[in-house]
Amino acid sequence: MRVPMRVLILGGTAEASAIAGALSGDARFAPVLSLAGRTRAPQTPPIPWRVGGFGGAEGLAAHLRQEGIAALIDATHPFAARMKANAARAAAMAGVPRVAVLRPGWTRQDGDCWTEVADMAAAFAALGPAPRRVFLSIGRRDLAAFGPPHTYLIRSVDPPDALPANARAIAARGPFAEDDERALLAGHRIEVLVTKNAGGAATAGKLAAARRLRLPVVMVARPPPPEPPVVSDAAGALDWLAHQSGPPCPGIVARGV
Ligand code: NAP
Repeated sequence: MRVPMRVLILGGTAEASAIAGALSGDARFAPVLSLAGRTRAPQTPPIPWRVGGFGGAEGLAAHLRQEGIAALIDATHPFAARMKANAARAAAMAGVPRVAVLRPGWTRQDGDCWTEVADMAAAFAALGPAPRRVFLSIGRRDLAAFGPPHTYLIRSVDPPDALPANARAIAARGPFAEDDERALLAGHRIEVLVTKNAGGAATAGKLAAARRLRLPVVMVARPPPPEPPVVSDAAGALDWLAHQSGPPCPGIVARGV
């Protein structure tokens, strides 16, 4: 019987959870899911997991060697640029094969009124000088860029530690349905939505709702993509992993001596 292949999955995303679910119970692999520890009550994964940073690319490379990791799947969020760069560098240092998962970004559709900006400071500037009622759907760690004269509704998985002036926070974890998003935007008389271009279906409902309500959207562009190889979803990562683990062992065939 072959020794299971040790696989480290860098997570914090739906794709990482899907990969963990697919590998759970597969005797060919011994997977571990790594979380940064940003979410206060993460959903419990079905495989062994660890929490916290590694100490940069060097720390991650040391971890890969110490733990005998044979394959690294970087399934961090499209905006987790530092971790993505560290994963590529650490894998090269430790000589461990690595793949990055990057889901496709959202693209503008007919009826969308998007202003695309490079970062949070530009997103705030794009709101203009007149006071607006703004829905901030950017997580809870980039709020410092936003302030007067606008009024904000902020949604994040955990409540923010500090709020801008004139802000109200709601804590909620997706997925979010389009109808619920429309009701939220209309109920709070939102005039403009600010979001990161995270991509994916789970949080796309707000974009469809904004389209229906003819609301402008300020869309923060993604950081540069990670180094190849890059796949677009969990299935692509599992295919890549199957290639790393090689063909199945041949069965023992009685030769009839
Ligand atoms: P980041 O800026 O790229 O990473 C900052 C540091 O956090 C990394 O250098 C690393 O510390 C640690 N880290 C990040 N992901 C880790 C993981 N999976 N396991 C262990 N350590 C990790 O990342 P971020 O934007 O803060 O995101 C943090 C986590 O939240 C990621 O796992 C990401 O998938 C998830 N997330 C992020 C967003 C977002 O919008 N940024 C949205 C949803 C989920 P060391 O250098 O010490 O190793």
